[in-house]
Amino acid sequence: MVEGETTVSERTLVLIKPDGVARGLVGDVIGRIERKGLTIVAMDLRTLDADTAKAHYAEHSSKPFFDSLVEFITSGPLVAMVVEGPRAIEAFRGLAGLTDPVKAAPGTIRGDHALEIGENIVHGSDAPESASREIKIFFPDRF
Ligand code: UDP
Repeated sequence: MVEGETTVSERTLVLIKPDGVARGLVGDVIGRIERKGLTIVAMDLRTLDADTAKAHYAEHSSKPFFDSLVEFITSGPLVAMVVEGPRAIEAFRGLAGLTDPVKAAPGTIRGDHALEIGENIVHGSDAPESASREIKIFFPDRF
């Protein structure tokens, strides 16, 4: 590293969605996060209520898929995590792959495990502002 250069650590909210939990992919996703060198600093298995799901996906509230997205994300237990490390947001989105699992590269979580855009295994925050907002929704007392 160049002298004076700093790699700022950041946090991201990761969800292993109900399809990932139901299909037994929790260990696979956690293994990828750990092997990448990121650190899990909070983790909880829970089933979301509709209000929390709507708050989390508020930016999509006008989209045609919003109702099915809320129904799916509340359909069973998910694993919520706060993941930390240098450029953790970009690093986890790289592990996840593109939103559409058919287009996601093999070797990514979605590329390896999914075919349907509505059931794409994981969520990862897409920017520092959304990470901060989402972490407050899921872990209000922790960060
Ligand atoms: N989604 C969907 N249909 C679409 C687009 C998105 O069901 O046409 C779902 C999908 O599960 C996705 C989530 O909505 O993960 C949030 O969409 P976003 O564009 O934020 O993708 P992500 O950041 O999860 O890759």
